[in-house]
Amino acid sequence: MSLAGVYLIVMAICLGPIRGCCAHFHWSYSGRNGPGYWNSKYHTCDSHSQSPIDIPQTLVYDPELGDISTEGYDSEMEMVLTNNGHTAHVAVSGDAFIEGGGLPSRYKLVQFHFHWGNNSSVGSEHTIYGHQFMMEVHFVHYNVEYSGIEEAMKEPDGLAVLGFMFQVSLDPNPGLSPIVDKLQDVQSEGSSSYIDSGTMALSDILPESFGPFFRYTGSLSTPPCYESVIWTLFTDFIHISESQMNEFRKLTHTEGERLVDNFRPIQELNGRIIYINYYNGYERPSSFVLDSIWPQSNYPEAQIIKCSSRHGSRKRCMSSPRGWIRNIEIVEKTSIAPCVKCRDFFANGRAVEVTNGCKGIFRIVFY
Ligand SMILES: [Zn+2]
Repeated sequence: MSLAGVYLIVMAICLGPIRGCCAHFHWSYSGRNGPGYWNSKYHTCDSHSQSPIDIPQTLVYDPELGDISTEGYDSEMEMVLTNNGHTAHVAVSGDAFIEGGGLPSRYKLVQFHFHWGNNSSVGSEHTIYGHQFMMEVHFVHYNVEYSGIEEAMKEPDGLAVLGFMFQVSLDPNPGLSPIVDKLQDVQSEGSSSYIDSGTMALSDILPESFGPFFRYTGSLSTPPCYESVIWTLFTDFIHISESQMNEFRKLTHTEGERLVDNFRPIQELNGRIIYINYYNGYERPSSFVLDSIWPQSNYPEAQIIKCSSRHGSRKRCMSSPRGWIRNIEIVEKTSIAPCVKCRDFFANGRAVEVTNGCKGIFRIVFY
């Protein structure tokens, strides 16, 4: 069926017995206005190249992609933080551009915004090999060949979005402080606050290198779901402490409800190919890392579900069988007790061994 045909049916439903279904439809992330109902007003949300997606282990290395280059990301600029009821939205007033990295044009940054969870086991829109992260930030750029974002968002090469995933750190990330400190000013929907010029540059937030990335074509992950986005998802993470995360979770939206879990469910790939811009000796990256505070982890993958006394003070523990653990490294340790690098994996790769009383951040490497 043509898109026009689908549109006519949607219009017919909207004008039918359920009065006011569309005129008063204010999309949200749950309930009767949640993602499952977005297509009642925004028919493109039902289309075949939607976002977000799960990055699968089947990737295609494209040597033509190369690296993305940025311009203006190091300049301090004025920004306006707004709670728009769906996200913490930061409008950027200065000139910042990206190009290269296989993008068909030069793209200008307009805004960036965040997707996060009620707790740190959920939050990101995209998932990597089935793993969801505590937060994801999207830097939204439009193709400078169009007059502005309104025109560009309807064109297949109109938008380029850079996405970064967040991982937990024990200490606050100072690069995020100018934003996090202002969140208390925008706790209610519709409120805004200036982030003064001179306080931060975009590069303060981002990982040091714009290294390996995943590339695919998709859509806006919010209504109207236009399929106009060239997605670039970086494999380097941004770090954030739990206390900084909690400032995001204090935001509210309509009727004072907490603004959390503002991520759209994973969409079907429908045959789309996911490309990667680097080659590390394998045909695809074979693992990714997940940092986690031990033992109070919010990640199901890192939660010890069963322990038994063994080898004196040490315990042998089973972790949740969600992923195959290849290795665990100690990133940072806060306890005086020595931490023994995990070993003695069971044949199924799911058993880890840690010293009793060890606390810190562990880096878990999954297949
Ligand atoms: Zn987004």
